Amino acid sequence: MFRKILIANRGEIALRVICACKELDIATVAVYSEADRNSLHVRFADEAVCIGPPRSADSYLNIPHVISAAEITDVDAIHPGYGFLSENANFAEVCEASHISFIGPSPRMLRLMGEKEQARREMAAAGVPIVPGSNGLVLDAESAAAEGDRIGYPLIVKASAGGGGRGMRVVRSREDLVTAWETARNEAQQAFGVPDVYMEKFIERPRHIEFQVLGDHHGNLLHLGERECSIQRRHQKLVEESPSTALTAKRRAELGKRVVEALKKIGYTNAGTAEFLMDEDGSFYFIEMNARIQVEHPVTELVTGIDLIKAQIRIAAGENLADAAGPAEFRGHSIECRINAEDPETFVPSAGRITTFQIPGGTGVRVDTASYTDAVISPYYDSLIAKLIVHGRDRAEAIARMRRALEMFVIEGIKTSLPLHRRIFADPDFEAGKLDTHFLERLLPVPVK
Ligand code: ADP
Repeated sequence: MFRKILIANRGEIALRVICACKELDIATVAVYSEADRNSLHVRFADEAVCIGPPRSADSYLNIPHVISAAEITDVDAIHPGYGFLSENANFAEVCEASHISFIGPSPRMLRLMGEKEQARREMAAAGVPIVPGSNGLVLDAESAAAEGDRIGYPLIVKASAGGGGRGMRVVRSREDLVTAWETARNEAQQAFGVPDVYMEKFIERPRHIEFQVLGDHHGNLLHLGERECSIQRRHQKLVEESPSTALTAKRRAELGKRVVEALKKIGYTNAGTAEFLMDEDGSFYFIEMNARIQVEHPVTELVTGIDLIKAQIRIAAGENLADAAGPAEFRGHSIECRINAEDPETFVPSAGRITTFQIPGGTGVRVDTASYTDAVISPYYDSLIAKLIVHGRDRAEAIARMRRALEMFVIEGIKTSLPLHRRIFADPDFEAGKLDTHFLERLLPVPVK
């Protein structure tokens, strides 16, 4: 087992990894930017190293700075969390070259899954259904038009290097295609430094359903059920739950088996998530693989009893899946609300000092956060400030629990998404499990882009 782990991240996920390390009796090193000097991950780690100015590019994304911190503190592994360097194949390679274990999939896998168009083809070849779309990347306007005619409208142009809901353009008719293709390419270049785009049929009212997997280095791979993440704003998730109300046990077993077989064939290791869209007929289509731990992992932890971060660490240290995770025993229902520092209707980020931070507790309630009263939310980073997660014997109990927990969560001084979450949980369609990715557009008075 590892002696000491550096956490190359900040906020709630850095703290979450520190919790797992403490339980495994592994020493921890936090890294932080000048803006995060007073953060809880710095306070609760055994050691902490400042890696640069507030801008992510100068600190959390700066590979030489992170690796230097790891070398100075003599760690044997790095946990990258999510975002930042978590899916960066070059970073994983530099870790390997520096004899530091990267807690995540191999650089080869990160490279493969990081190009969504390539990941699509690979999964299709391994027997997983994908959204009908272009044959490969769409490199010029002429082939965009030809592929558009073949796929049919509406369609969606997507950045192959995409993530975080960026670099996507829905196209409703042939006339709009070339402009949309050009805009998507420009956006992709701006956001990810690569202009490559591909096209998929646009599924009108899909549900977003994803499968969590864990694979070890001995050829074992297991799925831990699904999460439904259909409540989204700007193609980004806001509420997640497990299990999904849209899956029967039979369907879950069939799909889970396909995912497991495909990922075994591809040689996937560590934690990952295969994301799918389910159309109105109940057909499933793979969209992408997230080769890292996800924000919404706690709902799976609460229904399976498996600590996913500890499992990631133990797998990276070479343990068998059976020892690292044990069998999954599905129990009850779990729901997560992402509490963001943002206007609940316009989603404009809201930075500043938190004057009151009062978290709910009690049976079946978990809050993952690095925020506290008097903490300053800086404009430099992601707006997620807390995750409120509940577990109940069934969905009805989980909803009732979430309602009271949302009522008892008080954050003052900045705007948050709490009022929006309260509205979602008061909505009859949500209660009935009638969900699709346009749910919030119907709930909100202003259109959500
Ligand atoms: P990202 O990597 O940016 O998160 P994804 O490919 O995972 O992008 O898609 C994010 C969300 O965008 C999906 O959950 C869904 O709401 C929407 N989306 C993506 N592809 C399609 C599609 N083909 N049809 C309809 N909606 C889509």
